[in-house]
Amino acid sequence: MLVEDDPNIADLVDLYLRNDGCDVYQAATGTRALEVFNRRKPDLVILDIGLPDDLDGFEICRSIRETSDTPIIMLTARNDEIDRVVGFELGTDDYVTKPFSPRELVGRVRAVLRRSKGPREQSIQVVEFGEIHVDINRAEVTTGNETIALTAQEWALLIYFLDNQGQVMSRRQILNGAWEVDWIGDERTVDVHVRQLRKKLGSSFELKTVRGMGYRLN
Ligand code: CA
Repeated sequence: MLVEDDPNIADLVDLYLRNDGCDVYQAATGTRALEVFNRRKPDLVILDIGLPDDLDGFEICRSIRETSDTPIIMLTARNDEIDRVVGFELGTDDYVTKPFSPRELVGRVRAVLRRSKGPREQSIQVVEFGEIHVDINRAEVTTGNETIALTAQEWALLIYFLDNQGQVMSRRQILNGAWEVDWIGDERTVDVHVRQLRKKLGSSFELKTVRGMGYRLN
């Protein structure tokens, strides 16, 4: 994800990253950056410090670090030691001062990605709910020798809850995070799919309803 308010810089960096084989999501404001981050779960964030919004790069970094160790490379126009120190204290992985060469930035992106493992590699690959066995790599749910068939949407929902285990997720967050296309319809569609998932995975699958808020997977 590329967070940069200057469209010329954003488009140039975007082009270099795409040429290097990356998929790029852009955000030009702080609020948008957090939305895109939560929705797309990028492998890496390039974050401009100076943004024309209510949130600057430091605040975005702080907010991302509350829930995630996704690598962050900070960009700044200011060649300021203080920024660098604050940035590292907040948990940025690398730091690039403007003006920079896009080629150099792509090199830093590669290096940071090499150092960090992708979020999926770090997370658990096999999960048990009582007798139910979920193999995430193989996208397979079994009990004993029997396969439990999940629809694509139920599978996406299950992965979403596993990624956000222990947190209360609102129906709106779930729709934004676990549905492929923008869902503009009724939020109760989440309840329908949750009901199916509970039925298939049984009572050991502790997906709790949090009244007035949403759902939490224990
Ligand atoms: Ca800027």
